[in-house]
Amino acid sequence: MEETGKTGILLVISGPSGVGKSSVVHALAERMEFHFSVSWTTRSIRPGERNKVDYVFVDREEFERGIAAGGFLEWAEYSGHLYGTPRDAVLAHLRRGEHVLLDIENDGAGQVKEAYPDAMLVFILPPSLQELERRLRSRGDTSDEDIARRLGVAAEQIEEAEWKFDYRVVNAEVGAVADEIVSILTGTSGR
Ligand code: 5GP
Repeated sequence: MEETGKTGILLVISGPSGVGKSSVVHALAERMEFHFSVSWTTRSIRPGERNKVDYVFVDREEFERGIAAGGFLEWAEYSGHLYGTPRDAVLAHLRRGEHVLLDIENDGAGQVKEAYPDAMLVFILPPSLQELERRLRSRGDTSDEDIARRLGVAAEQIEEAEWKFDYRVVNAEVGAVADEIVSILTGTSGR
């Protein structure tokens, strides 16, 4: 594709486990055109996932070679596994004027802002921690201990989001959240 002279928007979406991030991302994709960056990860592939589509699945050695080569825009360890966003692909899409969406955890979001200050960091909030707990329990596949741990992490992330993120949006209804993010993006896209 040709260079347009206008860079695309780098949208970073983060939020606690169970908040409904992936539904928000789907609803966004129905409203605006985004390039979805495919991250590298050292975690193992889950049923239904495809290599190089959902993630590029690599071992720790290969991931560390990527770090040493400066290949990541950001990377972080989460639940004992490494996750990272390949730098060159993201920047190439932005230079072509395409919008890029990253669905990443908090530490990585902060690194993106440092490397690329024009990035727009949006944090998805649950209506309340009680509601987040209800959503985590309704998944049915998570133990009490795991739920308590995730709620503890969520409380920390929510506190951190106060200063780390440009916008915080409450996910009460997924379509409304997507509409709100689109209006944020279109309101500032003429920068
Ligand atoms: P999962 O293993 O469930 O797919 O993802 C776990 C967490 O890692 C999610 O919060 C997801 O947003 C985050 N994540 C996915 N890719 C990346 C990445 O490239 N960098 C960072 N920092 N986090 C990521």
